[in-house]
Amino acid sequence: MTLTAGVVAVQGDVSEHAAAIERAASARGETAEVREIRRAGIAPDCDVLLLPGGESTTISRLLAREGIDREIRDHVAAGRPVLATCAGLIVASRDANDDRVETLDLLDVTVERNAFGRQKDSFEAPLDVAGLDDPFPAVFIRAPLIESVGDAEVLATWEGRPVAVRDGPVVGTSFHPELTDDDRIHALAFFERAPTP
Ligand code: GLN
Repeated sequence: MTLTAGVVAVQGDVSEHAAAIERAASARGETAEVREIRRAGIAPDCDVLLLPGGESTTISRLLAREGIDREIRDHVAAGRPVLATCAGLIVASRDANDDRVETLDLLDVTVERNAFGRQKDSFEAPLDVAGLDDPFPAVFIRAPLIESVGDAEVLATWEGRPVAVRDGPVVGTSFHPELTDDDRIHALAFFERAPTP
């Protein structure tokens, strides 16, 4: 089976995510065709979408300008998977406590930008993640704090704070799963979906 994966590429890291999706697919004997999304008209043809890290204010502005925001909402409304990481999680949240970020309201969480790990802007930590047998090496870079979780499942916490959540077809992480060669978060989001109730 070939999975068409759209990586939002208006700003932020793309190639590492593309590589992780391709590895996760080939580990299952499948293939992934990765498309970069910089304009409207591509997301509707994708089976799964990825919202990467970067700068959430810029990403949300460009998504709205290009009309990609509506396509992402339609994708989720159709029950199709999305993985949103770091700034992507901020954009996917219900509220980012920042007027400059127009959130997509795909994940029932509220976030605070740049608030996680105040003393240490960037760090790596082994994380227990629901659905994974061994700890995941999570890289946090000026990560958002998930300050409240509504109707969403917490998949992982760090120092008592949620750092990975699932809300239906959408998985969000405060950390950057593409920056190690461990593709289990991509697999969890795209290939091991929770059964729909
Ligand atoms: N600090 C960035 C923001 O608030 C997110 C950082 C990242 O994606 N690594 O948008």
